[in-house]
Amino acid sequence: MIRLIYASRMTETCEMESLQEILQVSRKNNSAANITGVLIYDPSFFLQCLEGPKEVVNKLYQKVLADDRHKDETLLEYANIQERTFGNWTMGLLRTANLDQDTLKSYTGSNQFDPYKLSGERAMHFLVTVVAQEKKRLDEQCSDLVVG
Ligand code: FAD
Repeated sequence: MIRLIYASRMTETCEMESLQEILQVSRKNNSAANITGVLIYDPSFFLQCLEGPKEVVNKLYQKVLADDRHKDETLLEYANIQERTFGNWTMGLLRTANLDQDTLKSYTGSNQFDPYKLSGERAMHFLVTVVAQEKKRLDEQCSDLVVG
């Protein structure tokens, strides 16, 4: 299996409705493709982790790269894994506004969290940390489609 983490910037075409659609489509497709992961969003960027069989993760990443609702996609980590870290979520969604702000600051050392500054290892560490902090919120979203 593969874990892939990337950062990207939202384009103007990406609004709250688009986000709901991305989430809805992702959960349906990922469930069918045996992909799990988390998506962090902010008014200006995405940070996403995808875990699953190599071929399907590669194929999905190609689709995601072609999506014009975001740009400047930058691969932070692409690693072979024995087991999933985010196996509970077909796509868990967290927004930075709901995250612990001190945690955000501690990862990039400034008020403005910037995922492009993270190494792959730091990005993974960040995701594990915020997912642990927000586990309740993530578990509640499992099957609903409300951006929370
Ligand atoms: P379709 O059935 O053709 O498309 C599904 C829906 O998405 C349609 O309603 C279509 O109108 C809409 N759509 C597709 N592309 C665009 C576009 N460029 N602009 C506006 N609307 C569009 N997909 C996943 O399957 N899993 C993921 O984990 C995932 N994560 C994503 C993360 C981010 C940050 C972004 C921006 C997109 C993500 N996507 C994800 C969406 C992905 O880019 C494709 O749009 C989607 O996989 C296409 O699904 P489909 O093949 O079923 O296509």
